[in-house]
Amino acid sequence: MAGQANPFESLQEQIDDAAAFLDAPQGVVTRLKNPERVLETNLTFELDDGSLETVRAYRSQFNGDRGPYKGGIRYHPGVTRDEVKALSGWMAYKCAVVDIPYGGGKGGIAIDPADYSEAELERLTRAFATELRPLIGEDRDIPAPDVNTGQREMNWIKDTYETLENTTAPGVITGKALDSGGSEGRVEATGRSVALAAREAFDWLDRDVAGATIAVQGYGNAGSVAAALLDDLGADVVAVSDSSGGIHAPDGLDPRAVKNHKAETRSVSGYGDAEPITNEELLTLDVDLLVPAALENAIDSDLAADVRADVVVEAANGPLTPDADDVLADKDVYVVPDILANAGGVTVSYFEWVQNRQRFYWTEERVNEELERVIVDAFDRLVDSYETNEAPNLRTAAYVVAIDRIVDAYDQAGNWP
Ligand code: NAD
Repeated sequence: MAGQANPFESLQEQIDDAAAFLDAPQGVVTRLKNPERVLETNLTFELDDGSLETVRAYRSQFNGDRGPYKGGIRYHPGVTRDEVKALSGWMAYKCAVVDIPYGGGKGGIAIDPADYSEAELERLTRAFATELRPLIGEDRDIPAPDVNTGQREMNWIKDTYETLENTTAPGVITGKALDSGGSEGRVEATGRSVALAAREAFDWLDRDVAGATIAVQGYGNAGSVAAALLDDLGADVVAVSDSSGGIHAPDGLDPRAVKNHKAETRSVSGYGDAEPITNEELLTLDVDLLVPAALENAIDSDLAADVRADVVVEAANGPLTPDADDVLADKDVYVVPDILANAGGVTVSYFEWVQNRQRFYWTEERVNEELERVIVDAFDRLVDSYETNEAPNLRTAAYVVAIDRIVDAYDQAGNWP
């Protein structure tokens, strides 16, 4: 990744920027800049050869004023305590900005899952679920998938929790497979909200997303679905990349065919007759819309100076360093912030949890309609905050909306001595 900014410091800076527009007392702002608690633990599990391995894992519960802590679990060698703390904060603000009744949480294990067999990953995931058991619960803290985790890991966590608790509690985790209580539309939800946010942003700027040229960095769940849905809206996806490199086709790629190619070869590289391109070249292509959909700190201030897109819609969490944000604002590049743009994942997680609690399941059409309503309403509220507060950028405007809602919930609950 380009930048080395500490994501937790980035988060704190974002809160300070937004707090300047609110008259919340300093003590409350400090509270909103730090997690309520963080679990840091060693997980020891057996490898297939019978030896034992110990790895580091975290769960941060950032803020629970508006409801149970909610947020994914990531498996990645770059996972650190500060990264997990930052990601849990972004979850709290994300849930508030789209007005769903959750707080924020996040977890992670510092491993490269490619180094382990499926059986090893299952033992590791069940060890983590056992450690998490006293902290999580349907009304307490509800994990979900994140980078390098998916339905398989969620099902293992749910099964471990239910077995140890001797109950059925499908709502203890979201992002489950359909037959284990998952929701229609969950897999596509993050990419769908990215595409909806891009459509709304272009509308607001009196531009049409149909015909817009798009580059997508990161071609996993979020990036590949966003690319396919933007293609459905008539946009031209001209470049995509993953950790092994990128491809560029000025006349447009077929995002679904690229996804199939990646499924077969584990990489977007080598697709059709597209030209190879580096990640840096992709991020600075002359396109209408740039969608960073990989990891945090993908764009620092140096790279931001070379960004030529007019609009950036953040599918990843924290892909811009705060300095990069300033550089892009100075260049009048509109950045639709992660806490709104990628909120589709947590929104449909919320729908999944609602369905689990009611034991009554919705059609995919209903899920997508409800999601569209949430994202469009949140975007309208964001624009209102941007215009009435004369905020320097959309991110600060989004934090103002979110902080205001969390502070209101805190005030209304009163203060437990
Ligand atoms: P994923 O693991 O499915 O995909 C990540 C992609 O990024 C992969 O294609 C990987 O090759 C690529 N990548 C990694 N390092 C890269 C690099 N240096 N350059 C280019 N590409 C690189 O993960 P995902 O679920 O799509 O998540 C992507 C981002 O979206 C993360 O920041 C995550 O926190 C965020 N997000 C995901 C969801 C969700 O529901 N999946 C929800 C909200 C936010």
